[in-house]
Amino acid sequence: MNIILMGLPGAGKGTQASKIIKKYPIPHISTGDMFRLAIKNGTELGNEAKSYMDRGELVPDEVTVGIVKERLSQSDAKEGFLLDGFPRTVEQAEALNRIMDELDTKIDRTINVEVPEEELMNRLTGRRICEVCGTTYHLVFNPPKQEGVCDLDGGKLYQREDDNPETVANRLEVNIKQTAPLLDFYENQGVLVNVDGARDIDEVFNDIDEILQNL
Ligand SMILES: [Zn+2]
Repeated sequence: MNIILMGLPGAGKGTQASKIIKKYPIPHISTGDMFRLAIKNGTELGNEAKSYMDRGELVPDEVTVGIVKERLSQSDAKEGFLLDGFPRTVEQAEALNRIMDELDTKIDRTINVEVPEEELMNRLTGRRICEVCGTTYHLVFNPPKQEGVCDLDGGKLYQREDDNPETVANRLEVNIKQTAPLLDFYENQGVLVNVDGARDIDEVFNDIDEILQNL
């Protein structure tokens, strides 16, 4: 069960990933965790990645791909894995296919959690934070009892710079541009499945679960 999970920011990819690994005995492998582990273990590639990161430079593809290969070769990934945050480009996807060939396996499904941009904007711009205690609210999902005021201490709620509509819209645009060629790639490979993510968390998971059970 070799799965790639994709979705734009706010699509609920992280939530679905947790639900998948709770039910299925496969490791959740995210790019961030993979890098942290390689660096912590002091592998050659981990050290190399760290030297780029320390200089504030992008880690080159060959290093990233090497780290992915190291991780996917470990015994806990033998029966499958849930890959999250990798690949990011078609070049990386092609490299991943080569890794799969070398490990004598393949990507079974790329699951794309799809949510309309307008809904993502609502989700991503609704966060409000108490300036006193830092408690996080959401205008739609977890609103305070009184608008603009913290339930706990009456502190004023503010919106983070990162959450303002213009910043969020830019971030989404960048992500859409980046993922479109990847979605095409996996569509052409015949492994892409789109799941409607603009629904209740459990409904979304039921669809994903059905896909996984039918592998
Ligand atoms: Zn507060």
